[in-house]
Amino acid sequence: MIQTVTGPIAPEVLGFCQPHEHLFVRRTPAAEVNPALQIEDEARSVSEVAAYRDAGGGAIVDCQPGGAGRDLHVLRRISRETGVRIVGVTGYHMPGFYPEGHWRFSESREALQERFLRELTEGVREPGEEVPVFPGAVKAAIGTDGPVGRFAVCLRAAAGVAARAGVPLILHTEYGAGAVEAVRICEAEGLDPARIAVCHVDRQASDYAPHEAVARTGAYLEYDTIARYKYHDDPSEVALIRHMLELGYAGRLLMSLDTTAARLRSYGGAPGLTDILGRFIPMLMDAGVSRMEIDEITRENPKNLFM
Ligand SMILES: [Zn+2]
Repeated sequence: MIQTVTGPIAPEVLGFCQPHEHLFVRRTPAAEVNPALQIEDEARSVSEVAAYRDAGGGAIVDCQPGGAGRDLHVLRRISRETGVRIVGVTGYHMPGFYPEGHWRFSESREALQERFLRELTEGVREPGEEVPVFPGAVKAAIGTDGPVGRFAVCLRAAAGVAARAGVPLILHTEYGAGAVEAVRICEAEGLDPARIAVCHVDRQASDYAPHEAVARTGAYLEYDTIARYKYHDDPSEVALIRHMLELGYAGRLLMSLDTTAARLRSYGGAPGLTDILGRFIPMLMDAGVSRMEIDEITRENPKNLFM
């Protein structure tokens, strides 16, 4: 079963899934640097997710972990109002999302593990909320130097918990730096690479070698910089995906948008949560990618990641 914010579902129910979005994020220190990292208007988020549903979307993973602006109860309301299945996460994010003195910077590996596991097994209950909401995955992050120092402590805790709880690990990377080493660390903590989604490697879409190296570990490559033109144009992303498909990695790719307020239409941004369904998939198919391959990337792979 896959744990969603409205309860467990059979994996077959997931449907078309974007495994790395941000639908609702409260204000954090990161929003002082980049205001688009605050996504705090419930009605706008509902309308964005409703448009995704109308375009054919079935499920979304919201990758904002606890203490970094996450509100699982709002996500539960958004899911109930739209019918889109939403998976929330426990775990940790990049340092910039947390105020000084936060547990993210100081807790021991054991304490972090206890914290993440408690959220997965007992759920999260905000004051005034009767029924807890359960996360269904663990978010982790490594920086430009890879899994070193504090990042390594947190990553080991997150991986150990994902392995014990039987849920996937969604790993933020900076352009894929240290990704292979991070997968090895997770493996050493007992986590099967087939339960790991390595994010943001496609911020660099011209040198294919780092992509192939991650795919060889057995982890998923989550391509989530689609239509983020500060990194690369569409033809580069399409060429990268075609290259990975030609090497036989259809079963190792995921696609998502990693939204901020600046990328959600209902917040005045672009291209909107429907961009993959409405624009990018037709573009892939025009470039020769088959419907079967699209379904594998957008339906089968997310399901298998969570199974
Ligand atoms: Zn993200």
